[in-house]
Amino acid sequence: MSIFGQPEPEEVDVLGRPLRCQVCSNHTFHRQQAQLHGGVATFFNMEWASPTAECLVCSACGYIHWFLPRG
Ligand SMILES: [Zn+2]
Repeated sequence: MSIFGQPEPEEVDVLGRPLRCQVCSNHTFHRQQAQLHGGVATFFNMEWASPTAECLVCSACGYIHWFLPRG
């Protein structure tokens, strides 16, 4: 997966179900990865892990869907 996402938006499955934008019901997204640090990581009590979140940015309206890695 590219750090800066891919030029074309893609359809994304979450737990085997196609992800729809919560705002506009679009179904294609740009993948981005974001390093959590500072206040955000502290909020999730994860400052020890320097976690990376996956962001799926709606290709239509730009709404960002955040996913934290599991396990
Ligand atoms: Zn949208």
